[in-house]
Amino acid sequence: MSEPKPMQVRPMCARCKRKVLAFTEDHDPFQEKVTFTAYCHGEREVVTLTEREVVNITFVSAFNEPAQLPALVSDPANADGGQP
Ligand SMILES: [Zn+2]
Repeated sequence: MSEPKPMQVRPMCARCKRKVLAFTEDHDPFQEKVTFTAYCHGEREVVTLTEREVVNITFVSAFNEPAQLPALVSDPANADGGQP
């Protein structure tokens, strides 16, 4: 069992306009996934990414509306043409 580890770099909270109170990562070596949890203003936001995705991602903000922690996206291929 792994435990969530506090991250040194915390994303900005889109609602509070300041860094979130806490930000943790939790690696799942079996599924090769990483779960990130941001805590702020009494809420938490969770996003799970694959180890591969994590390489290309920098968290800049959390609690974005309306999407969930879309982590930011340095990968344009991620914009999967979902827009009408
Ligand atoms: Zn906040």
